[in-house]
Amino acid sequence: MNSSIPVYIGDYAVDKLMEYCQEKGFKKFVLVCDTNTYPVLGQAVEGRLQGAGWDVITVRLTGEEIIADAHYLLDVFLKLDRQDRLFLAVGSGTLTDITRFTSFVTKASFVSIPTAASVDGFTSIGAPLVMRGIKKTAISQAPIALFANLSTLCEAPPLLTASGYGDLLGKLLSIADWQLGHVLWGERFDPQIAVEFYQSMSKSIRYAPQIGRRQCDGIEQLMLGLIESGFYMLAFGNSNPASGAEHHCSHFLEMKLLKEGRRAVFHGVKVGVVSVSTAGWYARVRGLSRADAARMLEATPFLSAETQVQNIHQTFGSIADEVIADQKEWIYMTPEALAALKRRVVDQWDVVQEIAARVPPPEEVVELLRASGAPTRYDEIGFSREEFLQALDYGHYLRNRFSINRLRLLLGIPSL
Ligand SMILES: [Zn+2]
Repeated sequence: MNSSIPVYIGDYAVDKLMEYCQEKGFKKFVLVCDTNTYPVLGQAVEGRLQGAGWDVITVRLTGEEIIADAHYLLDVFLKLDRQDRLFLAVGSGTLTDITRFTSFVTKASFVSIPTAASVDGFTSIGAPLVMRGIKKTAISQAPIALFANLSTLCEAPPLLTASGYGDLLGKLLSIADWQLGHVLWGERFDPQIAVEFYQSMSKSIRYAPQIGRRQCDGIEQLMLGLIESGFYMLAFGNSNPASGAEHHCSHFLEMKLLKEGRRAVFHGVKVGVVSVSTAGWYARVRGLSRADAARMLEATPFLSAETQVQNIHQTFGSIADEVIADQKEWIYMTPEALAALKRRVVDQWDVVQEIAARVPPPEEVVELLRASGAPTRYDEIGFSREEFLQALDYGHYLRNRFSINRLRLLLGIPSL
């Protein structure tokens, strides 16, 4: 797809950035980086800008784990001087989100200079922020340009790159969930974006072996795919095309780690591991006839609102009321609405099958993730079976959206 902003991926990213700033007349900057990305690329960018006689405020965020929370946002705000400046995000996803948000609220623009092909959010407008331990996406702004230095991307920590691959592979699941939500739950959908997005992602995911071997051609394709994913979200206006059950359950795991003060696991790594399970649910659905589905829908009880509310309180603790308020439509579904939903599932079974047919089987998801160097199992990334089961069973409460997770719950397909 055509991007609406200048995008460069290659070996001369800093030169291209300089040309761009010259052409646009930018002379004052806020460069946001951290202690890892400063020596990797930030210092070079800072040196070139200062060498041209330009004014640079460098914000070097410190700490073992950078989180887009109040603490780090304030670190950026405290360095600002009320002058019109172009923000430069030199880093991966979190750093870009911090820059995206701080530039947006100070009415400045920002340029993304990714240091790893780690996530698909570089070109999106949403900034996932952590507020009181809860992840919330603040709608802010996309960068006005993106300059990725290919050699920097290729030298990024392999697990960060594998995480980007997990995020990318998850799109095959999220696109299916997006369409499922349209057919069964009446969610907004754009068939043209869905087809183009699917084709683009299908092409990029083939590069798993090259990515695993850290070959630059594979990593370039990965970065392109991740950037395109951001553009498709922009074109649609929200993240629905690129965030399905694999993301909701991954958010659940992420919140758990945050709440318990445990070490973070890269976003796409979790998305990849959950994708193995959600691909498994699609595989189960593929094996069912319309009559099987009708029988299973009848045989599976829908949890009463009282039980769901109780379970949510037990699972989500302090944020339970917020979750319940957001999920009213599902939790308090009337018997008539539930019957209509089940009827829709049976009536639309052919379409459900068409959607499921485009999802790779779980074995293939595992194979691709492995080839890219990404983990495939919950215990490889530090979760117990109980924790992972809980994420699969409760992840759907984190977004008011339909997905394969809700379909499999209606059908009584077990989580693992
Ligand atoms: Zn993602």
